[in-house]
Amino acid sequence: MPKKRKFIYFFGNGKADGHGKMRELLGGKGAGLHEMTRIGIPVPPGFTITTEVCKHYYDHQRRYPTELLTQVINALGRIEKILGRRFGAAADPLLVSVRSGARESMPGMMDTVLNLGLNDRTVQGLIRRSDNARFAFDSYRRFIQMYADVVLGIKPKEKNATDPLEAILERKKKARGVRLDTELTVADLEELVVEYKAEIKTTLGKEFPEEPRDQLWGAIGAVFGSWNTDRAIAYRELYQIPNNWGTAVNVQAMVFGNLGDNCATGVAFTRNPASGDKEFYGEFLVNAQGEDVVAGIRTPKPIAELAQFLPKAAKQLQRVCNSIEKHFREMQDVEFTIEEGKLWMLQTRNGKRTGFAAIRIAVDMVGERIIDKREALLRIEPDQLNQLLRPIFDLNGKEQAHKAGRLLGKGLPAGPGAATGRIVFHAEDAVQWKQRGERVVLCRIETSPDDIRGMDAAEGILTARGGMTSHAALVARQMGKVCVAGCEVLHIDYEGRVLRVDQTELKEGDWISIDGSTGEVYEGEIQTFPSEVLQVLLARSLEPKKSRVYQQFAKLMKWADEVRTLGVRTNADQPDQAAIAKAFGSEGIGLCRTEHMFFQGDRIQAVREMILADDETGRRRALAKLLPMQKGDFKGLLEIMGSLPVTIRTLDPPLHEFLPKNDEEVVELAQVMSVPVAVLRDKVNVLHEFNPMLGHRGCRLGISYPEITEMQAQAIFEAACELRRDGRNPFPEIMIPLVGSRQELHEQRTIVERVARETQKAYGVKVRYLIGTMIELPRACMVADEIAAEAEFFSFGTNDLTQTCLGLSRDDAGKFLPTYVLHGVFPQDPFVSIDQAGVGALMRIAVAKGRKTRKNLEMGICGEHGGDPKSVAFCHDIGLNYVSCSPYRVAIAKLAAAQAALIKKI
Ligand code: ADP
Ligand code: MG
Ligand code: MG
Repeated sequence: MPKKRKFIYFFGNGKADGHGKMRELLGGKGAGLHEMTRIGIPVPPGFTITTEVCKHYYDHQRRYPTELLTQVINALGRIEKILGRRFGAAADPLLVSVRSGARESMPGMMDTVLNLGLNDRTVQGLIRRSDNARFAFDSYRRFIQMYADVVLGIKPKEKNATDPLEAILERKKKARGVRLDTELTVADLEELVVEYKAEIKTTLGKEFPEEPRDQLWGAIGAVFGSWNTDRAIAYRELYQIPNNWGTAVNVQAMVFGNLGDNCATGVAFTRNPASGDKEFYGEFLVNAQGEDVVAGIRTPKPIAELAQFLPKAAKQLQRVCNSIEKHFREMQDVEFTIEEGKLWMLQTRNGKRTGFAAIRIAVDMVGERIIDKREALLRIEPDQLNQLLRPIFDLNGKEQAHKAGRLLGKGLPAGPGAATGRIVFHAEDAVQWKQRGERVVLCRIETSPDDIRGMDAAEGILTARGGMTSHAALVARQMGKVCVAGCEVLHIDYEGRVLRVDQTELKEGDWISIDGSTGEVYEGEIQTFPSEVLQVLLARSLEPKKSRVYQQFAKLMKWADEVRTLGVRTNADQPDQAAIAKAFGSEGIGLCRTEHMFFQGDRIQAVREMILADDETGRRRALAKLLPMQKGDFKGLLEIMGSLPVTIRTLDPPLHEFLPKNDEEVVELAQVMSVPVAVLRDKVNVLHEFNPMLGHRGCRLGISYPEITEMQAQAIFEAACELRRDGRNPFPEIMIPLVGSRQELHEQRTIVERVARETQKAYGVKVRYLIGTMIELPRACMVADEIAAEAEFFSFGTNDLTQTCLGLSRDDAGKFLPTYVLHGVFPQDPFVSIDQAGVGALMRIAVAKGRKTRKNLEMGICGEHGGDPKSVAFCHDIGLNYVSCSPYRVAIAKLAAAQAALIKKI
């Protein structure tokens, strides 16, 4: 005979069949109830019907396993025995709640039904037991209302209509001339019960179930049924929760918080979920039941006041919460009810918290010896660190803006933090306004590389178009700027210098506020504060010991540094960015894009001259103008980074990016170069590329025009030699981009080596340096063993490698990528998190082949992925030496690297 299958797990009287680690089988709520019972916390007895039953239910045309019926009846019998009350008995009846509970709490699942088991007969027993007819009939009418709604599906016909039973209640109150439910008499409530049932019969054509067992099965069926409502399915799709998880059902004896003034119900956190402060935090209502606290019918009181009403229970609650937190070793979010002075716990789970609270709690718990450092590191979502670095909105100010209807719309939360400032529409204006001392928010339809300086000058960036990897979002992350991207309701009119949302029109100079953590855009000004961490590290306007937030951050970073093996470098093009990176503890620069320096000041003229020159002589003339500028830049970078490695990439983008965009600029340039306008115009046209991403760029430029590579190498080595001469120890790594074959790298390497030799000789010093390449073409991965013969390091350029591996261009992918992600073609945007199956496989090949040729080949990654925690973990796993990310993501990458090291050990 097959073993009897166990579908029900009982808890009560200090014993439980299940425990806290059984979320899969018992759901989150169930597992918590079992564990609390087990450790002696007062929990009303009950039982959990497992998620297996839910699976069975859907696998068998919505039928239950045959054993379930007897198991439910037996379990009910056990509750009856513990409490000395019988389900459905006329005298002193047992009442239960039926509660859904999936593994992860999930909106869209069935609401809880309370007071189940009441009917015209049992209500009399409840009156006798409580000696409180008002309570009994109020419970009864609430039960019918809840059951009608969640089990019988009697809901308002349209979205804005009132619930039919709620309407009856309202009519009753009106007829009696009262405002509150509590003002209705016993007779009124009794009438309500009759009227509710009549309405249900008219609507459904059948009676309200009087028999408690029918009520129970109805409610159980409704919980399982709610697993497959549209809302629940949509939610699972969005959060990638498998459909076959199923939900559990909890049936639990009722306790009453509404029996009188010695009763209460409430919710509490064992620590403050916003700040992480170690203080008891929560709300309660005296003489109330369940959902009243959240429903907002009555305003709940802060938990600190509970002691004034129920001192003994308040103390007990404090004690119980302490022991629950200690037991679960994690901040808990609990629900409780006090019945006639006695405390009952109804739920516990790990509390959700802000990034601030997450860090505070983890660090504090290490101090309290509740967890160790490793666990603290593992508990914080790396991305949560972002919150510590961003300016913050004053919460009151934001609430007021909301209330005043100043919310204009919502875009993508592309650069977390808060920014408030005056609207400008053009990058030059942003720069000028900033110079005048104004704070501005740069509002653009979308941004492009020439907006960089304006973006830098702005407090925040708002775009009407573009996704999370749009130019605006990418640059904002690198700069640590607040950014809301793709706020589609905005209509931006550059000519008119206005921005419209429906009827609202904002002009240049008007105030606007954007919240890059939520994507919200508000009209008007909202006060912000700079983050304390930045005040300490960068502005140095705050002493470390005066900022608790900073100290905790610093502690966490120290712990991360102790365990991680993966290095963390930064992508930085300018000395100021390098300084920020260093303040955050970056271990070098993993990518300096030399061309970003070309956009500064009037350098672009010299760049254009170089590009448009007729021959080598002309090019060299222009390059000679650029040389001192580049040298100065490199010297700045190398100087700031001390003896840490600085990876400098030679010219990479297609030349047309630097060309004049409008005719005026062509005319101006023609004058400077003293060539006819028409000739110049032709040249510009010739340089046009249809698919610049795969065009004349990367090392292809250096191979066509070796003098460019030569000038850049010279700038690098002159800078390095000057520093060396001054007793410094600079460490440049020269990186050749877009290499696909050994020969390409060989040619470029030869130039760099020659310049290095000559320059060192001229200065009479020796400089440490490496020559390597960016790996960003599939071919480079496949022939990595050959390329490694010429390279001392590889740096995976995963932005381009993703484009070339997937055959899609980032600039055009915005049109279909969101759909692809929605359909699950890609589990995630491959430009945000490395496509491990595809791009990742190429990387593995390159790592293996590269190291086969050169055992100590240094390997890193410098694509945007370097700051994505999942990608960082991947880089750790495949054995890279470092990741390089934007300066403001250094802390995130360090934490992610520490977690990867810890997880691998486990
Ligand atoms: P949710 O998942 O929406 O939090 P719950 O199942 O926790 O739903 O129920 C909501 C509230 O109903 C609980 O916080 C509690 O106040 C009340 N409740 C649930 N079961 C009982 C019970 N057995 N006795 C008293 N109140 C209960
Ligand atoms: Mg709950
Ligand atoms: Mg590239």
